[in-house]
Amino acid sequence: TEKTFAIIKPDGLLGNYTDDIKRTIVEYGFRILKEKIVQLDEGTVKSFYAEHSSKSFFSSLIKYMTSGPVLIMVLEKDNAIADWRALMGPTDASKAKITHPHSIRAKCGLDMEKNCVHGSDSPKSAQREISFFFKELSAE
Ligand code: ATP
Ligand code: MG
Repeated sequence: TEKTFAIIKPDGLLGNYTDDIKRTIVEYGFRILKEKIVQLDEGTVKSFYAEHSSKSFFSSLIKYMTSGPVLIMVLEKDNAIADWRALMGPTDASKAKITHPHSIRAKCGLDMEKNCVHGSDSPKSAQREISFFFKELSAE
């Protein structure tokens, strides 16, 4: 099996999508190994999304991700990384509504920025992101 890291972003949590999303996660065969509600601060988001630090949307992304609490999770199943990305749908939620209407971002996201959920994009990022938030899993 494989682990991946997921976030229900502030718009997802605020919009009461959490139970729906978690039900979908379990329905698709993921095990929720860890979960925690946290309020991210600016420094944490900057470091978490460091790969985007030079992008024009970076300051807006920090504002969005610190705008309210998020739910962070470690998910586990075979092929968890790719399967969770597929279940989330494309980054741009407004396009997801047309091309991937059953995806999570289509259902609870809004646009290119406010897209409701995060998922690790590779085994390397999954490992980095899991140990970033859950130190007790960092050896695995
Ligand atoms: P995530 O990393 O959150 O799972 P992703 O891998 O689909 O999303 P990335 O390219 O890694 O997309 O972008 C990280 C996040 O930054 C996006 O989820 C979105 O919230 C925001 N973002 C990305 N591109 C833009 C953009 N062009 N304008 C505004 N916000 C953006
Ligand atoms: Mg990404």
